[in-house]
Amino acid sequence: MKILVLNSGSSSIKFKLYDFPSRELLLAGSIERIGEADSSLRLKGRNLELDERVALADHRRALESLEEIFKKSSLLDSFEELGAVGHRVVHGGEDFEESVLIDEEVMGAIKRNVSLAPLHNPANIEGIEVIGSLSPSTPQVAVFDTAFHQTMPPEAYIYALEIELYEKYGIRRYGFHGSSHSFVCKRASEMAGMDSASFDTITLHLGNGASVCAIKGGKSIETSMGFTPLEGLVMGSRSGDIDPAIIFHLYRELGMSLQEIERLLNRRSGLKGLCGENDMREIELAAASGDERALAAIDIFVHRIIKYIGAYFVLLGGADAIVFTGGIGENSSYIRARVCERLEALGVRFDSELNERGRGDFLFSTKDSALRLYTVHTDEESVIAEDTYRIVSLAESMNPTP
Ligand code: ADP
Repeated sequence: MKILVLNSGSSSIKFKLYDFPSRELLLAGSIERIGEADSSLRLKGRNLELDERVALADHRRALESLEEIFKKSSLLDSFEELGAVGHRVVHGGEDFEESVLIDEEVMGAIKRNVSLAPLHNPANIEGIEVIGSLSPSTPQVAVFDTAFHQTMPPEAYIYALEIELYEKYGIRRYGFHGSSHSFVCKRASEMAGMDSASFDTITLHLGNGASVCAIKGGKSIETSMGFTPLEGLVMGSRSGDIDPAIIFHLYRELGMSLQEIERLLNRRSGLKGLCGENDMREIELAAASGDERALAAIDIFVHRIIKYIGAYFVLLGGADAIVFTGGIGENSSYIRARVCERLEALGVRFDSELNERGRGDFLFSTKDSALRLYTVHTDEESVIAEDTYRIVSLAESMNPTP
C-alpha cells in the first residue's frame, strides 16, 4: 500500500511517499511559495528528480500538480491508488490523545481547534479537504503534534490564571513536537533493551523549534512548550520563557504594537535576537573565533536546557536516559558536550570520542554514567506514515471490503 504523508503549511506543502509494509521511502519533496507567481516544486525519488518553478495559485492546484507528476512518473495513476494519506495536524486541543481516521466528526473537532492554532490548523484542514475532493474514497489519518502530551497531569498543564480561562476557553499548556518525542523515546528504549512501559527519559528536540519532554513509562508527563510553541527553551528565533510583564512594558513604554511584539517574540528573538544568527553551525563558528555575542547566545541556550533537565529529572523521580534529537541535537557534538558536562550532579558521564564520532543513532554515555545518553535521528514523517498504516490496516481488518 502506498501512503502519502502531507505537512501542509499556509504557503507550503511538504510530502513523502512510502510503500508499506516494506516502509520504503519512494520520494520526498516540497511545494513552496504557494499563491505566488514563482511557486517551487521540488522532489527527489529513486529515478526522479525535479526542481520546477510554476505558478500554483492555491493548495488545490499544488496537489493537482503533484498528482500529475506521480502519473507521469508512473508512480501512481491518480491519488485514488493511494492506500491512505497521513496528515500532520498541529493542534488537536483536548479532543485527541492519539492519531485518528478522519471523518466528519474529526474534521469538526479540528475546525473547533482553529482558534488555538490560527496559523497552522487552517492550512492542515485545507490539505485534508483538497485530498478529500480529489480522491474521495482514500482514507485519511490525522496525526497531531499535541496528542502525545495529552497524558500530562492537570498540575503540569493548567496555568495559574483564572480557572475559567481554562474551563471556558481552553487556555492551558498543550505541548508540541509530540511525534518526535514519542518516536525518539521509543527508539532509545529499544536501544537500551528496555520495555518502554518502564523507561523514564528526558527527550530534547533541538532544532529551529526546540522543546524538552519528561516521559515516564512511555507517557509524556511534562513538556516545555505550552499554549503555543513559544514557551520553553531558547529557539532559533523564538524567545521561549520570558516574564509576560515584558509584553506590557514593550507596549506601554516602547510604544510597540501587539503585532510587532508577537513578531519580535516569534521571529526576532531566541538565538537570532541574541547574536543576529539562528543557524547553530554559524553560531558555533563565530563562537570559535571569539565572537562574544555568539558565545553568550550559546551560554544562554545551554543554561535554559540544563534548567529544564534538572526540573524534569526531579519530576520523573530519576531517569534512565537523556535523548538528543533535531538538527542541533543530532548534529552538534559541541552543544551535546556543553549540556552533558553540566550534568555531573546527576551522575551523568559521557565519552567525548563517542560523542564526536557517533553517526546515526548512538549511545555516548560511559558505562559508569547514572543515565544513558543517546542521539537519535527523528523522523516525524515516518511516525505519521506508521500511524497511518496502523490505523488504516486496523480499520480494514474491522470492515473488510466485500
Ligand atoms: P526545524 O525545527 O526547522 O525542523 P532542524 O531540526 O532541521 O530544524 O534543525 C535546524 C538547526 O540544526 C539549525 O540551527 C542548524 O544550524 C542546526 N544544525 C544542523 N546541522 C548542524 C551541525 N552539524 N552542527 C550544529 N548545528 C547544526
